[in-house]
Amino acid sequence: MSHKPVPRPDPISHVYWQRLREGRFSYQSCRACGQCWLPPAPICPRCWATDTEFIDSAGYARLLTWATYHRAYDPAFADSLPYVVGLVELSEGPRLMAGIRCDDPTLLRVGVTLNLELEPRENGFLVPVFVPVLANKREGHAD
Ligand SMILES: [Zn+2]
Repeated sequence: MSHKPVPRPDPISHVYWQRLREGRFSYQSCRACGQCWLPPAPICPRCWATDTEFIDSAGYARLLTWATYHRAYDPAFADSLPYVVGLVELSEGPRLMAGIRCDDPTLLRVGVTLNLELEPRENGFLVPVFVPVLANKREGHAD
């Protein structure tokens, strides 16, 4: 297990992190208008209703954009270089920033399919990361 930063749940995100501890990655939804979003918020970002619920995600997403880090701004990530952080869109609609776990970031493309994995952190936390469904070889290379 790494010594990467652990989440700091607050009264708004507590349920989100607790569900992750149980292996359930979920997003927030508005009971008034149906809007879905992440990260957790006290009110619906569309209609400002406070009647919200958490819904389990199927764990499928696509990659919208990303950045590849070649320098660790936190020493805890030094062993992970280069690492990727991306904006992903869940199949249910919400978008979030998350770690993208891949061996070769040069293979990433906009729209690539991503599968959810839960990365263990200290104190029993699980953090959502996404793994791209990629071909095993670089474009233009033969077997
Ligand atoms: Zn709403």
